[in-house]
Amino acid sequence: MRKYNKTVNASILVVEDEEKLAQAIALYLRNAGFSVEIALDGQTALEAFARRPFDLIVLDLMLPKVDGWEVCHRIRKDSDVPIIMLTARVGEPARVQGLEIGADDYLEKPFSLRELVARIHAVLRRAGKKAQSVIRAGDLYIDLEKHEVFVRERRVELTASEFALLAFMAQHPGRVFTRLQLLDAMRGSTTETLERAVDSHIKNLRKKIERNPQEPEYIQTVYGVGYRFRDRTL
Ligand code: CA
Repeated sequence: MRKYNKTVNASILVVEDEEKLAQAIALYLRNAGFSVEIALDGQTALEAFARRPFDLIVLDLMLPKVDGWEVCHRIRKDSDVPIIMLTARVGEPARVQGLEIGADDYLEKPFSLRELVARIHAVLRRAGKKAQSVIRAGDLYIDLEKHEVFVRERRVELTASEFALLAFMAQHPGRVFTRLQLLDAMRGSTTETLERAVDSHIKNLRKKIERNPQEPEYIQTVYGVGYRFRDRTL
């Protein structure tokens, strides 16, 4: 997922089936400095979102093909992108439902475009703060402050190096790093990483050459120190 700490030049997907309203919103948002793409129905919105990332989605509730609830629900399965819902429905229950399915904010029609822009800025700022400490990707949840990782809501115990590696890569989704870059990114835990790398090579070697890798004949562990190849005289 992306970080949302830039509120200027953010890209916004406007999902609204009333074309005139969609155009008016898009024009206003562009003038406010955002880049905007319009989707006139829910299916198109999901396709647009699958094609490229957006920093925020303005999502009308009542939409043809796939409605706003469903769009929100499906996007939330693997994205934390901020969503502001638009609705003609009045009253608290709709609002609560909107927030329950993962919308970040809720705006009842008719609304002023100025109000929409204010909400967009507020939601992007909030998301920016959140994005710095939590990363969500598919089934994976990484809490950068608490150093906790959950997969499918179950906590996974990682070593410091594993955590540093995962956190670093997850903070730069889509980017390719060389092993050296990754080592560099793990500065604090580099020694441990290198040691563990040796461990894993030893383990693999043993699998290949030892009759019983649990009781190695050739490559022996010297506890607290390291490894040695067996002494010829023994
Ligand atoms: Ca509508």
